[in-house]
Amino acid sequence: MLLPCLLPLPLGLALAWTAAVAEGVPLSLDLWAVPVVVPQMIFLGSLLLAALCLGVQTWRLWRWLSGRGAVCEGCGNMLGARQGGQPGDTRRCLRCSRDPCIAP
Ligand SMILES: [Zn+2]
Repeated sequence: MLLPCLLPLPLGLALAWTAAVAEGVPLSLDLWAVPVVVPQMIFLGSLLLAALCLGVQTWRLWRWLSGRGAVCEGCGNMLGARQGGQPGDTRRCLRCSRDPCIAP
């Protein structure tokens, strides 16, 4: 649940590294000139995205622990994201992945 939130970090690091390498490549034209702050801004953006994702997931976990979130009818674990479907909105259990529960 929290691990996918860390995915922007290696992607941002790779993009920032690529931008830093592109900054040092001498080209005959100045069309590819990368401002010096671009790699730092890319990495800062990925860091902020990861922090935002971790914040949202932590908030969902805190709601479930305090008894306010939607829970699975079978095992009592918290439910995943809302998914639109033919019978209506449903949410899949994050533990038992039982048949989608009806979203409250
Ligand atoms: Zn369940």
